[in-house]
Amino acid sequence: MHELTVTENIVNIALAKAGEAQANKVVRINLVIGELSGFVPDCIQFYFDALSKDTIAERAALHFESVQAQLRCRNCSAVFQPEDTVWSCPQCHGRSVEIHKGRELYIDSLEVE
Ligand SMILES: [Zn+2]
Repeated sequence: MHELTVTENIVNIALAKAGEAQANKVVRINLVIGELSGFVPDCIQFYFDALSKDTIAERAALHFESVQAQLRCRNCSAVFQPEDTVWSCPQCHGRSVEIHKGRELYIDSLEVE
């Protein structure tokens, strides 16, 4: 249940940014979520509703944009999208790969009023 911690961060950042902008209300939060992050949007929404209660971010819309996974080969540095669960490099067929993209979860932008 690491969604709780991550949602706390989202709420804190949203409130801090809204404060800087002297906003009265956070309307929408655009989030980028990697497909390998393991985060469940519904779960984040659930915690968000609870954590944002009685703050200016209460009832803000959460919008999730999903980012596809990308891997990088440690052998030849090729960047590619994994197919199914077989993670091997299409260039050199090496199996030593690292996650290049797809584990992230961050606030892309924020709409306030
Ligand atoms: Zn390779």
